[in-house]
Amino acid sequence: MRPLSLDRLVPSYVKSFEAYIPSKPDEELKRLYRTHILHRLNNNENPLGPPPSAQEIIRKFSPPHAAIYPSGDSYYLRQKLAEKFNMHPDQFIVGNGANEVITFVIKAFCEKGDNIITGDKTFAVYEWVTIFSGFEARLVPLMDYTFDDEGILARVDKKTKVIFICNPNNPTGTYWDKERMKRFLERIDNRQIVVVDEAYFEFVEREDYPDCISLIDKYPNLVVFRTFSKMYGLAGLRIGYLAGNLDVVNTIRKTCVVYSVNTIAQKAAYAALDDHEHILKTRKYVREGKEFLRRELIRMGLPHVIGEGNYMMIKLPINDTLAYRKLMALGIMIRAMTGFRYPNYIRVTISELPVMEAFVEALKKIL
Ligand SMILES: *Cc1c(COP(=O)(O)O)cnc(C)c1O
Repeated sequence: MRPLSLDRLVPSYVKSFEAYIPSKPDEELKRLYRTHILHRLNNNENPLGPPPSAQEIIRKFSPPHAAIYPSGDSYYLRQKLAEKFNMHPDQFIVGNGANEVITFVIKAFCEKGDNIITGDKTFAVYEWVTIFSGFEARLVPLMDYTFDDEGILARVDKKTKVIFICNPNNPTGTYWDKERMKRFLERIDNRQIVVVDEAYFEFVEREDYPDCISLIDKYPNLVVFRTFSKMYGLAGLRIGYLAGNLDVVNTIRKTCVVYSVNTIAQKAAYAALDDHEHILKTRKYVREGKEFLRRELIRMGLPHVIGEGNYMMIKLPINDTLAYRKLMALGIMIRAMTGFRYPNYIRVTISELPVMEAFVEALKKIL
């Protein structure tokens, strides 16, 4: 047999793409760093877990039911979302995490030679999917840690299909207010699809923060992402969704592979949507955690960026990868930010007070 020639088979944009290497399972990490405890402050997970109603659904799932395919289009969950937002069920697509709906949108609108635009320091999956699919990702530098609307408008051309705005932005926590969002949408004037990723929507309490799902009627080119991974504590079950204008969503739906969202995730998400108490509890510890960290970091003289969402960034006087390793040895897992193009910064998930105290203690030790 002839040798396999990957060189000939693999497109150049896949060849040159560096695969993302996820972190190892907790048990492996504990062994590697010789630690008995591990506080996960790297992925913006909710330490409260899913709301009680969703936990009950997970507990009660009947094992034989695992043999049955899930609803292929998350039928009941979309009905519930439609009711909640006063829209049509077909205006929603549920995916295997918001990550999957990112791929749906790019596949639906981009062809050879097209580009997408986003920020240079934001959630990286928009850029990754674009590049390994063979399209161009135009990254506009943030201004004052915020998405730069003028900068984005200046990069738009005839080949621009999708603009991704992360609001609030992960990792900086900055957001465009209602006025700025509407002004931007007016100026785009339906020429591109504008995706607003609201993965942290439920954490934001500010009056002037736009609920973009309510703007879809007025701006048919607007597509909004939400997820059950962050506030609703269902990251391990992988479920998120997009909402948009009916024609737009019907187009995006063509690129979906059905059955990617499992039954337990659909049912747990359905139950989670009703639990407002869980949101209030989560917001409370996030508020307290931020206040505590702000005080401590000022005392320690460490520059930091605290905005919306359940995370914050800290600038360290040492290399962030080194800090990661040292903190791991003390049982604290944070996100090193060199990969987000923020060398020497770390991102820390806000957790409950005792864990935040442990984090500050560990930080003092390693500096
Ligand atoms: C976590 C996150 C997502 C992805 O969420 P999943 O639903 O778990 O795939 C999307 N966007 C942003 C900004 C995030 O932080």
